[in-house]
Amino acid sequence: MTGSGQRRVVVAGAGIPGLSLALALKRAHGPALAVTVCDPALASGAARHRGRAFAVAAGGRRMFAQLGIWEAVSAAAEPIRDMVVSDSRLTDPVRPVFLTFAQEPSPQDAVAGEPFAHMVEAEPLVAALLAACAAAGVVLDPVGIASADPGPEATELHRTDGRAETASLLVAADGARSRLREGAGIGWVGWSYPQSGIVATIGHERPHGGRAYEHFLPSGPFAILPLVAGGALGHRSSIVWTERAADVPALLGGGPDETLVEIERRFGLGFGRIVLEAGPSAHPLAFGIARRFRADRMALLGDAAHVIHPIAGQGLNLGLAGAASLAQAVTDALRLGLDPGAPDVLQTYERERRFETLAMGAMTDGLNRLFSTDALPVRLARDLGLGLVDRLPGLKRLFIGQAAAVRGTLPKLLRGQAL
Ligand SMILES: Cc1cc2nc3c(=O)[nH]c(=O)nc-3n(C[C@H](O)[C@H](O)[C@H](O)COP(=O)(O)OP(=O)(O)OC[C@H]3O[C@@H](n4cnc5c(N)ncnc54)[C@H](O)[C@@H]3O)c2cc1C
Repeated sequence: MTGSGQRRVVVAGAGIPGLSLALALKRAHGPALAVTVCDPALASGAARHRGRAFAVAAGGRRMFAQLGIWEAVSAAAEPIRDMVVSDSRLTDPVRPVFLTFAQEPSPQDAVAGEPFAHMVEAEPLVAALLAACAAAGVVLDPVGIASADPGPEATELHRTDGRAETASLLVAADGARSRLREGAGIGWVGWSYPQSGIVATIGHERPHGGRAYEHFLPSGPFAILPLVAGGALGHRSSIVWTERAADVPALLGGGPDETLVEIERRFGLGFGRIVLEAGPSAHPLAFGIARRFRADRMALLGDAAHVIHPIAGQGLNLGLAGAASLAQAVTDALRLGLDPGAPDVLQTYERERRFETLAMGAMTDGLNRLFSTDALPVRLARDLGLGLVDRLPGLKRLFIGQAAAVRGTLPKLLRGQAL
């Protein structure tokens, strides 16, 4: 508690999940709860996110609408209305389509008529979150949190500028290599993939029509994801291109013109002329999950708790689901006058999130192993599998519903409801 008896939550890490949680808590509790976000990267504002874009599932979009920022973000958000999946080699003259996901409204479906995801540009999204946090009264402090000493009433936080402060709850949203997770002695189970994820923004002559493509190539998936119109040629898409890590220096080392030729080989000719608008940047890929999502007076959030393969574009969505779930557990406690950092509050959060996170991690790991190979028997088996999913509308809807994070027991924010 602060000197005035006010409760206090400190979020270490100003990524999208950390900022979303801070905004949700401050909007729900106003002056009754002090909320601070600490991150040295706050000094550079939203600009460091330039050129990145994420597929935000329907649940995340509803949460942003509930938090009052969707209107500011929607100009930079392109609905994904349709998705086509193909399985081929780079040298195949045609890429047979095995699976199509269209928007399929149905009366009992909670997402009837709603796109299952939007491609959202990270810079305007973070800018909107920062502005809304500041307007709501969240303190944005450009400093790191080095360690924490939890006690019975509060946790003492040691900042990287040498100062100390206290909080009822510390949220470690400090990324995959979380120092706070390590400091709390929470183990990590995981492995690196021998792959890198290359991201870039591509300008093209012909419109994408809101359609996303995922081409499963032997070295990994190559995704083309629609962005809002603009750029030098009038239309733009984001690519997430998985390659064997050892091949990346040769693919990207020849300069932008050679990189563009490599991209064109995978992109196809259906979009007309293409140009590089932003990137490429390469990211090492890994799977990992924290053994626990909590310690004394500390909750792990976002990549600090879990890292998954980007094959299904779900890493950030898991972080947003975590933010919604933690915001609800903390809110339920505060409304009863209880301590938001108490073990049972954090247990509720962990119970809600850990199993679903493991299930999503296993699914993305399995898909990547199944598709990132050129062995013929595996190719035949998986093509049959994808064809079957395409022919079973119920199963496909479930698949889409899960990808859209709108099924099962959802925290209120993901349903678009106030806390
Ligand atoms: C190639 C690729 C494509 C992807 N595409 C998608 C997609 O389409 N959809 C999707 O849902 N997900 C996607 N993801 C996953 C997504 O990028 C991550 O899950 C998400 O960005 C994690 O956010 P985060 O805030 O948890 O971590 P980060 O973004 O790593 O942020 C952590 C923050 O913590 C700060 N920090 C570090 N240490 C401290 C400290 N001691 N004190 C205070 N602050 C600290 C850092 O400065 C940083 O700002 C993709 C990932 C990759 C690699």
